[in-house]
Amino acid sequence: MATHTTKMLIIGSGPAGYSAAIYAARAMLEPIVVQGLQPGGQLTITTDVENYPGFRDVVQGPWLMEEMRAQAEHVGTRMIWDTIVTVDLENGSPFRAIGDSGDEYIADCLVICTGAQAKWLGVPGEMALGGKGVSACATCDGFFYRGKKVAVIGGGNTAVEEALYLTNHSDNVTLIHRRDSLRAEKILQERLFANPKITVLWNKAVDSFEAGENGMLHHLALTDTVTGEASTLETDGAFVAIGHAPATELFKGKLPMDESGYLLNEPGTPKTAIPGVFAAGDVTDHVYRQAVTAAGMGCMAALDAERYLAARQHAVQEAEAAE
Ligand SMILES: Cc1cc2nc3c(=O)[nH]c(=O)nc-3n(C[C@H](O)[C@H](O)[C@H](O)COP(=O)(O)OP(=O)(O)OC[C@H]3O[C@@H](n4cnc5c(N)ncnc54)[C@H](O)[C@@H]3O)c2cc1C
Repeated sequence: MATHTTKMLIIGSGPAGYSAAIYAARAMLEPIVVQGLQPGGQLTITTDVENYPGFRDVVQGPWLMEEMRAQAEHVGTRMIWDTIVTVDLENGSPFRAIGDSGDEYIADCLVICTGAQAKWLGVPGEMALGGKGVSACATCDGFFYRGKKVAVIGGGNTAVEEALYLTNHSDNVTLIHRRDSLRAEKILQERLFANPKITVLWNKAVDSFEAGENGMLHHLALTDTVTGEASTLETDGAFVAIGHAPATELFKGKLPMDESGYLLNEPGTPKTAIPGVFAAGDVTDHVYRQAVTAAGMGCMAALDAERYLAARQHAVQEAEAAE
């Protein structure tokens, strides 16, 4: 077991963590990134990425994240494959964290980029057909279904927003919900019901995602939650929209969060309630949830952390000079 001491500890290795690392390393802060169980973050479980700026052609999610990792390392970041299991924020800077490996991390400042995970139904075919018709992000993948049949599964705000968004690309959108009423806000429901491109299938649970001969999603197997009757729905794309879970268990009772567990920053900034602790990316964002927004927030967090460290250093020097 080792102790790692650093000016900046970045927890998480998605677009937010790697971008924070690139900025911090170029500011000579020699950051450490603790990568967690999913090095590279959520984009490593997708295939085509067509909306990350800088690439004319579609790139593969795992490749993009590997490039970000390499760039962060190239400019001086230390990557550690570990998962933080406890953090001590109570006593202010320097902060202390412990990894699953037993290693200890001592850091002058902390950047939390632990992201979020889409919730899945957990039914057969869902994972196997990920990137082959099954997705959890209409903003990311809706464009690939231009002029095709798509389905959205869920009944909350996200599901309704995703269904409405998909009508930009498809005239045939089916919203599948396991109950007979939606949880989404009334205004969203009104827009949904007024949209002729959307059909709602009530009281239907998805039992499985089934592939066609080409290995791509072909149809959904459904069961009526009231009558028990089985049916199928042919579709080219299916978007699971039953929510996201931010990875904030570690910070419960230590940092302010909303009722869903997203970290609450000072509005418009990556600053948390504790000086020297910053949060960036999906862990603090339930609205945009994009690689480019996470990367942008990672950059902001590193810049603010750099200013925090400089101010701290300045205060120490002034105190020493006054002695
Ligand atoms: C299937 C899918 C397809 C997508 N497609 C697109 C797309 O085409 N375009 C787009 O812009 N966005 C897309 N997104 C969304 C995008 O992936 C996210 O918005 C983005 O990855 C968020 O980045 P992040 O850095 O905030 O967190 P994440 O990518 O979620 O990364 C979180 C990181 O934190 C680490 N971590 C968690 N807990 C700990 C811990 N305790 N200790 C250490 N590390 C920890 C994890 O290992 C991971 O590395 C997609 C998402 C999914 C799920």
